[in-house]
Amino acid sequence: MNITAEGPATPRRALLKISGEALMGTGQYGVDAQTVDRIAADVAAVAQSGIQVCLVVGGGNIFRGLTAAARGMDRAQGDYAGMLATVINALMVQNALEREGIPTRVMSAIHMSSIAEPYIRRRAVRHMEKGRVVIFAAGTGNPFFTTDTAAALRAAEMDCDILLKGTQVDGVYDSDPRKNPDAKRYETLTYLEVLSRDLNVMDAAAISLARENRLPIIVFNIHEAGAFQRVLRGDGPFTRIEEVG
Ligand code: UDP
Repeated sequence: MNITAEGPATPRRALLKISGEALMGTGQYGVDAQTVDRIAADVAAVAQSGIQVCLVVGGGNIFRGLTAAARGMDRAQGDYAGMLATVINALMVQNALEREGIPTRVMSAIHMSSIAEPYIRRRAVRHMEKGRVVIFAAGTGNPFFTTDTAAALRAAEMDCDILLKGTQVDGVYDSDPRKNPDAKRYETLTYLEVLSRDLNVMDAAAISLARENRLPIIVFNIHEAGAFQRVLRGDGPFTRIEEVG
């Protein structure tokens, strides 16, 4: 993808990471149907504009391995439970997208043949070429990873032009804007700045993978209706993470 002074050209293929937290809406746990429908409408609008779209869905609204491990559960076992949580979310998102009239496939990194296709890279690419939205479930399929890393991994495998991370705020700030009214949003950052300043965007494995593959990351507010489509056109607010020079 060409990055010009005006912003990124329209991408051919984009991966959107939707965290479990995003699906909770204003709730404290689980999935808020209205929020899922709104996010699905935004994804549908982008898919209908001709951009190939794939999604990685998190599971933190239901179960996190790390939290369970802190309470004494075996970490790997907890992580497998967390990956199953992402499958529940993926099915909810699939349902909402199909109600928008968008053909979809859920592909799971953990085999679950009754409800999802197994993840096969070339098949996923083919689905997108046919205009289907592919929803990647069960993260990387491995414990000790996160769905952010799964998002960077799948975006690289799918040869996406861009990785979008939809969050609760409209970009990356120097401190938490929900707690500090003077927090400043970065317009652009390099991968190394994210790593060295320990900015809370994505985990280091995800940022490193994106860096190695020169995959630009856009962080934006997923709760702003229509923002997914706007940021793909280069309209802010958002933070863009990329290599300069
Ligand atoms: N997880 C994992 N391997 C992966 C992706 C996820 O073990 O490749 C587990 C991990 O326990 C994590 C949980 O699934 O806490 C839910 O994913 P994540 O926390 O990334 O979801 P999000 O924060 O995006 O809602």
